[in-house]
Amino acid sequence: MESYDIIIVGAGPAGLTAGIYTGRQGSKSLILEKTIAGGLGLEIPSMGNYPGFELISGMILMSKMKQQAQKFLEIKENESAENIIKVENGFEITTTKTKYFAKAIILTMGRKHRKIGVTGEEKFLGLGVSYCATCDGIFYKDKKTIVIGGGNSSLQEAIFLDNLGVDVTIVHRREEFRAEHYLQEKIKNKNIKIIPSSNIKEIKGDKFVKSVILEDKKGNQREIKTDGVFVAIGSLPSSIELTKNLNIKLDDANQIVTDKKQETSMLFVYSAGDITGGLQQLVVACGEGAIAATSAYNDLENIK
Ligand code: NAP
Repeated sequence: MESYDIIIVGAGPAGLTAGIYTGRQGSKSLILEKTIAGGLGLEIPSMGNYPGFELISGMILMSKMKQQAQKFLEIKENESAENIIKVENGFEITTTKTKYFAKAIILTMGRKHRKIGVTGEEKFLGLGVSYCATCDGIFYKDKKTIVIGGGNSSLQEAIFLDNLGVDVTIVHRREEFRAEHYLQEKIKNKNIKIIPSSNIKEIKGDKFVKSVILEDKKGNQREIKTDGVFVAIGSLPSSIELTKNLNIKLDDANQIVTDKKQETSMLFVYSAGDITGGLQQLVVACGEGAIAATSAYNDLENIK
């Protein structure tokens, strides 16, 4: 079994930054990533709050982070960590391909999209239902779409689609958006329609999505024609089941509890980024990844 000082699980911004730090510290380390490196960061159409870049697409920023991390350690993509158990002097990590030993682990699995849970959502996935405008928006140029949700992601997706020449209607379950003020101001100057105080009850179609059933607060239902439905209603911790055989404290929202050193409740297990909750911003994930890597290094040095 290959043995490491530190194994990082998840190659989003937190994991990649942790990897840059563990590698530069000289720790023998590895990043495991179940799909491709980048995490949800890959889906951000453009961001204007990552220091050093006035405006940059998530895809470009994440590919720069990946390239930088690869200078210092290996990233094993398409290799999913399936189980982690405590063994003597460290941890045994079972993946879809093999087993590894690590003296310390950093959990940076990030988050996954929350599903709306209505009839048609699963059936039309990739056939009109999407969770990522950056990935799929281009297929809807000159077509009608509905974006569900009232947070930052929803408004950002709506703006991205509108810029592509897509006809966009935002459907939100409340009267007010929770998205930041600047995004609310931005959509006012766009040709984006808004249907407030309404829930999606069903997504309908034949081979592809054709319409949605909306229900208002009074229970009145109506059918609206659409070619696509972009679901942007927040996220949930990803792969949290990996913590089940470890003595790690989770909060009420199933997020990993950490202290200021990014230490979890279990010795030599650290966590960083969106999976720990808090302010879900790329710059925060990177900062926490750096702290987690430094804490792991210091703690391993202290037992030498
Ligand atoms: P979010 O802020 O949690 O917003 C989710 C939205 O979906 C809310 O409007 C919520 O409605 C709605 N919603 C939740 N469940 C629903 C359901 N079952 N049916 C209908 N609507 C539902 O999620 P997010 O926009 O993905 O953002 C997640 C985090 O990332 C936030 O911390 C956000 O600030 C951050 N983020 C930041 C940026 C940026 O800085 N520009 C961009 C994207 C994301 P209610 O309002 O009624 O609860």
